[in-house]
Amino acid sequence: MGSQIEPAANSNYGDKHTNINWDKLGFDLIPADYMYMMTCCDGETFSNGALRPYQKLELHPSSAILNYGQGLLEGLKAYRRGDGRVMLFRPEENARRMKMGAERICMPSPSVEQFVHAVKQTVLANKHMVPPPGKGSLYIRPLLMGTGPVLAMGPAPEFTFLIYASPVGDFHKARTPLNLLIQEKIHRATPGGTGGIKCITNYSPVFKPIKEAKAQGFSDVLFLDAVTGKYIEEASSCNIFIVKGDTISTPAIAETILPGITRKSIIDIALDFGYQVQERLIVVEELTEADEVFCTGTAVGVVPVGSVTYQGKRFEYGIEAVVTKKLQVALLGIQTGLVEDKMGWTCMLD
Ligand SMILES: *Cc1c(COP(=O)(O)O)cnc(C)c1O
Repeated sequence: MGSQIEPAANSNYGDKHTNINWDKLGFDLIPADYMYMMTCCDGETFSNGALRPYQKLELHPSSAILNYGQGLLEGLKAYRRGDGRVMLFRPEENARRMKMGAERICMPSPSVEQFVHAVKQTVLANKHMVPPPGKGSLYIRPLLMGTGPVLAMGPAPEFTFLIYASPVGDFHKARTPLNLLIQEKIHRATPGGTGGIKCITNYSPVFKPIKEAKAQGFSDVLFLDAVTGKYIEEASSCNIFIVKGDTISTPAIAETILPGITRKSIIDIALDFGYQVQERLIVVEELTEADEVFCTGTAVGVVPVGSVTYQGKRFEYGIEAVVTKKLQVALLGIQTGLVEDKMGWTCMLD
């Protein structure tokens, strides 16, 4: 591995210049200059965390991540405020979710403090790559994986926690509502499975239905529960909500639904606005009567759904999406420092 770099307490990384065209940011990877790595060799504790230049990894061909998919991912964002300071949104929630996931797939995990410290170090080292206000954010991708060698199926003897980052554009600017295709044959998650954690193995099995939906002009698929096929669960990487009058409903968290941090935050914001919020089973047919439908996730924020297609029938929603937009503006406002953070969700980096 390359030489390790200790971040200076008062680093001047933030003064670096970049030649990124902030106005053209999309969702393609632009690897931020520094990544963070920390290892666990005793099966319990992570230590020796350090920043190093973004670089390729060396892995055992027999590592548990390559052979058995023993790995988790996370995703969060850093935003630059109008005054230049950089903020994170609820990073300890990502830390807790990673801990829960690690427990399910037999991995040790960094403590919440280690996780949050590592995220802060990574963002500070790459501060010059956090887009200016209104241009996007720095997407932060923590990974936890079994990197030690194994032959017989089982957990690895060694684990690596890694964080890399990339500046990304603002999804809201695209302003295109999602057109969802309900997938009846392929399921994302099953009871007793790993749908409720950000397990690396959950994602490639949905590439095929997403690819097919995109080829037909849809933006994403909406999955139904694997047992009855009657209830909506979520899209491939975001949670779903329906609005009817003053009531906002979303599928209750079960082991087949990923407990989104954006989902959880939107529930609290909606309650604060005085809406009724219901977390419950939602039958597919309710989509046909909803006033508005929207999805939530770190990558997309709050995004309106323009249409849902089920068994060849397309249901469209009005473009006003008043409630969706109100929630979208409120959340993004807190995340970017434009709206007062009454909930204590944001954390300032510098
Ligand atoms: C990450 C993810 C979400 C959204 O979670 P956030 O914490 O809001 O980013 C929703 N569904 C799936 C399947 C996910 O992987």
